[in-house]
Amino acid sequence: MVIATTATDKPRTGRFAPSPTGALHLGSLATAVASYLDARHASGRWLLRMEDLDTARVVPGAADEILRTLDVLGLAWDGPVTYQSQRLPLYQDAIASLAALGLAYACSCTRRDLGASDDAGGYPGTCRAGPTKSGPFAMRFRADLCPVRPFVDRLQGPVDIDASALGDPIIRRRDGLHAYQLAVVVDDADQGVTDVVRGSDLLPSTCWQRSLQRALSAPEPEYAHLPLVCEPGGAKLSKSTRSVRAEAGTAAEQLWRVLTLLRQSPPPDLAGAPLPELWDWAIGHWRLGALRTVASLSAD
Ligand code: GLU
Repeated sequence: MVIATTATDKPRTGRFAPSPTGALHLGSLATAVASYLDARHASGRWLLRMEDLDTARVVPGAADEILRTLDVLGLAWDGPVTYQSQRLPLYQDAIASLAALGLAYACSCTRRDLGASDDAGGYPGTCRAGPTKSGPFAMRFRADLCPVRPFVDRLQGPVDIDASALGDPIIRRRDGLHAYQLAVVVDDADQGVTDVVRGSDLLPSTCWQRSLQRALSAPEPEYAHLPLVCEPGGAKLSKSTRSVRAEAGTAAEQLWRVLTLLRQSPPPDLAGAPLPELWDWAIGHWRLGALRTVASLSAD
């Protein structure tokens, strides 16, 4: 196995990778804007990837609605939009490579077999020596054989969670769908992503992803995990409740709201300014560090 290199010597490439399971809520819009500003402030590229692998959760029309929302807001992505559903051979190849390295195995355990531990975390390794029942099989990754090196998140600071303690993640489900943990690693590597900016709910996943990057000899991007945006009462925003929808007001008003949420403090004399002027200011003055000691962002 080749030790992964860091990606820091390449031009910055950020990305926004929504799952088209509904309209963007304010939290996902904040992630889009933060990742965009972080890339553009460094004169870097910003890619858009639809994470539409979980066909049961994909809502027809949601991908187009997300594109429209981003477009109206003036978030301009580089190159064509990528759809994970059109990249299955890449994921198949990655699983074949992992299997050839002895780092992937077939697992016959069902949710019922596993009881309390869910299908991604805390798996006790039952099928590591071979499936205990007949198929259909999921494929799991031997996270224990690729320990994650501690890393420094640009916002959360030092992270030292051992992926093997989280268990072996599923990389292909029993129903044949490729899992998020695998696809995101394959795509970030294939697309040359150097900087991942996303919500801190994905921080535990990052440990599996770094473990998979080592296994696949993929570069390790830099990570910045944003504080989560909460409802005024403190509850996490969710797509399923469609809470605090992103579209209220004009595009410039929406951007102002997101910039304020991201603690960028746009100057009062820019209130009411046209959208391009607000973007110019935001790109020039982007400060990720303004979010460093912030525990959560309130949507009020
Ligand atoms: N598709 C994931 C989501 O919408 C984000 C994945 C990522 O940024 O790595 O929550």
